[in-house]
Amino acid sequence: MTTEVKKLDNPEVVLRVERVCKSFGNLQVLKDVDLIVRKGEVVCLIGPSGSGKSTILRCINALEEIDSGKVQFRELTVGAKGTNLNDLRRRMGMVFQSFELFPHRSALDNVAIGPRRVLKLSKAVARERAIGLLRKVGLEDKADSWPANLSGGQQQRVAIARALAMEPEMMLFDEPTSALDPETVGEVLSVMKQLADEGMTMVIVTHEMNFARSVADRVVVFDKGRIIEEGPGRELFTAPKTERTIEFLRHIGWHGQPGEDNTRNKGVSDG
Ligand code: ADP
Ligand code: MG
Repeated sequence: MTTEVKKLDNPEVVLRVERVCKSFGNLQVLKDVDLIVRKGEVVCLIGPSGSGKSTILRCINALEEIDSGKVQFRELTVGAKGTNLNDLRRRMGMVFQSFELFPHRSALDNVAIGPRRVLKLSKAVARERAIGLLRKVGLEDKADSWPANLSGGQQQRVAIARALAMEPEMMLFDEPTSALDPETVGEVLSVMKQLADEGMTMVIVTHEMNFARSVADRVVVFDKGRIIEEGPGRELFTAPKTERTIEFLRHIGWHGQPGEDNTRNKGVSDG
């Protein structure tokens, strides 16, 4: 069964965001946001700076409280009384723009610490898991390196391995490649594409339009706190429906043409 068939047929909803509103003081940054993510789906969130993309991710994993609406992750109602935040965060992996590795721990310890402390795995088992995950992101040989001695792309791959170590049911990424030197962006996107191909459920805020177009099952466009358009990447980038999406794509210099392969230089295949 191909991943595509599996995703289209899969009725299993992992995340349901309903009419979520959020303000900071007088500034309303989320306005009736609705979003459903099914098991195995890869959803990319795009849109201008300040449009609410990070805020919605932070509301999804309870780093921010919502003012109204509902966020349902599996059987957990995010923000409801009695919802176990540790359980929620363990089951939702989060990767930030700024890596946020523990600076005084090796790559291996950064990955092993969650399984040790939170999942209470033995040192040996946590270590085995960490080594396996570092291998998966292509960094087995950097297990003993300190974050400061790794490139940005390598640090971000460690951060992805660290999130995966908790065996999350969904991964959230907030501009995971925005802080990277251009030459290390591709290696991080490749790891993310590999996860997508393996069927990981992912919500990704990104400015990498080639990646969104080729990897996302669905691309969702935010503007001023609202979702203004969504659809399969191929359609959205080749035939955007709203004037504001067209404007945004023009603004960020998207020059994609229908049928043109824009992914060739990005280390991401169109597959
Ligand atoms: P994006 O990720 O799309 O760039 P954000 O979700 O970070 O946008 O921010 C949306 C708006 O909310 C911006 O105007 C931002 O300045 C504001 N904002 C975000 N976090 C806070 C906060 N903690 N306090 C006040 N304003 C905030
Ligand atoms: Mg942001």
